[in-house]
Amino acid sequence: MSNPQTDNTSDAAIHKSDAEWREELNPEEYRILRKQGTERPFTGKYWDHHGQGQYLCAACGQALFESDTKYDSGSGWPSFYQPIQQKAVETETDTSGREVRTEVHCSRCGGHLGHVFDDGPNPTGLRYCINSASLKFESEQ
Ligand code: FE
Repeated sequence: MSNPQTDNTSDAAIHKSDAEWREELNPEEYRILRKQGTERPFTGKYWDHHGQGQYLCAACGQALFESDTKYDSGSGWPSFYQPIQQKAVETETDTSGREVRTEVHCSRCGGHLGHVFDDGPNPTGLRYCINSASLKFESEQ
């Protein structure tokens, strides 16, 4: 079982050993967040989720995306046009696939979230294509 921290306000980076992450995360979360895995489209818990609230990092609890910026991209993965704060996510060039893509990870714990593409809607034109397993939804109370 994962046990994300609930303090979203700290900017302090989180560094844990591979063994610690393996212990804290469930196998699917570990495979995606720590091993740059991808869930199959239309199978995750949030691709068709429409609640009002925030999506936190499933590994460290940092707030990453808001429901107001979520849209239906038709991809089968939760898609957002911007992060909650620019500093919440970091990107890296990913050359592991056939196409060069831009990988997106949590700025606090380094957990892999998904990729960002430039075919998103206004106002940013960006599509943050994120694995459900990397997220934990927190409903607005
Ligand atoms: Fe994180």
